[in-house]
Amino acid sequence: MNFDLTPEQDQLRDAVRALGRKYGHGYFVEKARAGAHTTELWQEAGRLGYLGVNIPTEYGGGGSGITELAIVCEELAAAGCPLLLLVVSPAIAATVINKHGTDEQRKRHLPGLADGSQKIVFAITEPEAGSNFHRLGTVARRDGDDWLLTGRKCYISGVDEAGHVLVVARTEDSSTGKLKPALFIVPTDAPGLERSKLDMEILSPENQFLLYLDDVRLPADALVGESLDAGLPALFAGLNPERITVAAMGAGTGRYAVERASEYTATRKVWGGRSIGTHQGVAHPLAHAAVQVELARLMIHKAATLYDAGRDLEAGVAGNMAKYAAGEAAALAVDTAVQALGGAGMTTEYGVATLLGAVRAGRIAPVSREMILNFVAQHVLGQDKSY
Ligand SMILES: Cc1cc2nc3c(=O)[nH]c(=O)nc-3n(C[C@H](O)[C@H](O)[C@H](O)COP(=O)(O)OP(=O)(O)OC[C@H]3O[C@@H](n4cnc5c(N)ncnc54)[C@H](O)[C@@H]3O)c2cc1C
Repeated sequence: MNFDLTPEQDQLRDAVRALGRKYGHGYFVEKARAGAHTTELWQEAGRLGYLGVNIPTEYGGGGSGITELAIVCEELAAAGCPLLLLVVSPAIAATVINKHGTDEQRKRHLPGLADGSQKIVFAITEPEAGSNFHRLGTVARRDGDDWLLTGRKCYISGVDEAGHVLVVARTEDSSTGKLKPALFIVPTDAPGLERSKLDMEILSPENQFLLYLDDVRLPADALVGESLDAGLPALFAGLNPERITVAAMGAGTGRYAVERASEYTATRKVWGGRSIGTHQGVAHPLAHAAVQVELARLMIHKAATLYDAGRDLEAGVAGNMAKYAAGEAAALAVDTAVQALGGAGMTTEYGVATLLGAVRAGRIAPVSREMILNFVAQHVLGQDKSY
């Protein structure tokens, strides 16, 4: 068992940390409040090769794995810049296209994803289906060589920043109850594709959208892969990278919160000469949160290592557990940090309450804590399915 990063991974971590600190949480909050995007940070990360670490070198990427992308996600979040689109674009979309796209799709899309000049977002969630993906109602129909897509998607992140959206549709009628999914690379300006921004209680420069697809006409080569058989494996291919990188983002956010709070409680004095961190009522909850964050990081490391070794089934269990642990740890860490800072915790200046919405959402998306517990109950504990 090896707990050390390689020298290259260490270097990557230090370099991404430095980039994250150059921008910092103040920048992230300012962009969010202005309704703007973290374009400068994204572009610089792209130029430095951090967005494409997991993309093969022949397409301009770093040729490494999800371990490296998780490092990027964690370190930017630990600097106060948790970027959800890292999970959506390089983790999910790039993996799906690299593993299951055609040669032509790889050549067309991966270089732009690698240098950050392109983003591809991901649309699976639907208002009626929710957590039950078997009920997806977005249908893909053949019309000659073309495809026509009709349906609705909700909570889709980053549509306003992306050139394409990877849409999960079904090719069988939903009344059959059987999902034969197919993934399509849809231009965000395709005729028939409309979007409306959702008002979310999350302070973030990244937005969520409702998508309406009304007979969106796509050429045959918009279908991911050579045939419809690519659909199911392509859909599953995105899951482990998604779980692992979103967990890394949560762990980074947890680290950020514990660090901010510890700095504060070590110096804040309200009872004579002692810092408030001297009081165990203040220090223990922070120490507890630090333990939870570190435990989550261990599981993320395990999941990423298994995934990069091609051990997908084991990575699936570890990735789900890592996502669960990190989601809980991040929410605990931010809430504990707010409490430890007292009134300052609720100010914008101290930059912890600004993350409350984001970490709360991390227990719901991209997969809810309950659905992970269902997965563990069924696949690890051998329990029957209740739904
Ligand atoms: C900030 C944010 C960003 C998002 N970005 C994207 C995106 O980019 N692309 C995308 O496709 N989706 C995105 N989503 C959607 C997200 O993946 C869903 O919100 C999530 O999967 C839960 O689905 P739902 O909201 O429909 O909840 P529902 O399925 O309606 O569930 C509601 C509650 O019931 C619980 N529940 C449901 N079924 C069961 C069960 N069988 N057992 C126990 N509990 C159950 C759930 O855990 C949840 O707590 C995003 C969501 C958020 C909040």
